[in-house]
Amino acid sequence: MKYIDIHSHLGFEDYGADKKDIINRMKDAGVGTIAVGADLATSIEAVKVATENENVWACIGMHPTHKPEEIFSEADYEELVKNPKVVSIGECGLDYYRLDEKTCPIVNNSDCSTIGIKEKQKADFIKQINFALKYDKALMLHIRDGEVKGGAFNDAYEILNKIKQEKGLISFCGDIHFFTGKLDMAQKFIELGFTISFVGLITYVQDFDKIIKNVPLQSLQAETDAPYVAPVPHRGERNEPLYVIEVYKKIAEIRAEDPETVRLQLLENAKKVFGI
Ligand SMILES: [Zn+2]
Repeated sequence: MKYIDIHSHLGFEDYGADKKDIINRMKDAGVGTIAVGADLATSIEAVKVATENENVWACIGMHPTHKPEEIFSEADYEELVKNPKVVSIGECGLDYYRLDEKTCPIVNNSDCSTIGIKEKQKADFIKQINFALKYDKALMLHIRDGEVKGGAFNDAYEILNKIKQEKGLISFCGDIHFFTGKLDMAQKFIELGFTISFVGLITYVQDFDKIIKNVPLQSLQAETDAPYVAPVPHRGERNEPLYVIEVYKKIAEIRAEDPETVRLQLLENAKKVFGI
């Protein structure tokens, strides 16, 4: 394996009849990926595609807004997590970008105020952090701010730091996927033990160059978040894990470092965090 796309949704319905071709293209180029679930159904699909393919691993769990009516329950994931191809829990976290009625949990006595939706997200997040710790799996975090810059990042940091203190942890193991925070926040999460990963967006916007240049190479990872946000020269198309090669190249270019050195280190980072 030469490259790992640490976050794709290969188990999503966007990949149908041509999934085999996509995986063959990955194999030919030496690309592996972690297929990430966003609810129970897509977690089951992620484990299925991982079990069937040597170069695919799985991340199981619940996205903060993907399926608002679902509440995270360990019991639902207890069987899945025992599969040896499961390397991570998530994508879980806080998403304050979408706090409208569409993300209100449709359960009895549900509180659809902004505060109510945030509380539901926080409760699911805490359960998944504890689940990951219980099974010694890496965390795949999804953190996205709403109107208040730093709002979701600050709350996620507080939750993690509190658990770290309470449990006397030396460090967390995991990654903040599709990182969109500021440099100081990146550094705070790195101190907690996380890596941060970037998607194809960095091939056409410069907003994250400063962070990519200023954090240690050991704290970076590359991903596609496929089927979304395809990198240049595939922008606008359905994304696939093969295109992570463009993200690797761009990280090397932004840091003005040797592409081969960057490739080897990013591969090493993924192996270390996810135990691959
Ligand atoms: Zn994702």
